[in-house]
Amino acid sequence: MALTPLPKLLEKTQKVVNAYIRKRDEGLCCISCGSPNANQAGHWISVRQSSALRFNEWNINLQCAGCNLYKHGNQAMYRIGLVNKIGEEAVRGLETIATNLKVYKWQRAELEALIEKYK
Ligand SMILES: [Zn+2]
Repeated sequence: MALTPLPKLLEKTQKVVNAYIRKRDEGLCCISCGSPNANQAGHWISVRQSSALRFNEWNINLQCAGCNLYKHGNQAMYRIGLVNKIGEEAVRGLETIATNLKVYKWQRAELEALIEKYK
């Protein structure tokens, strides 16, 4: 059986993790603007800023489409919402990872483990 190409596996992992986040945050408002019409899983620190945080469940929270798609995540307001949700210390932890590890090469086995964990 042919292995799933890595880009496809990354995509699949994101899908599974995002679905988990939408379920976890069901009923919550947009973390950035407080809109009740939040139905997307949005990254705070983008994948481009740090691929290490791509699947970090505290870096992904429920957002409205306006913030997620049109305001680049509404990042400054997102930080405020995230501090309210998980605390300043945890938010700084994410920032430290983003500063120290911008590029992280995900391995196949790690992605498969994440899919197993979050599906
Ligand atoms: Zn919003």
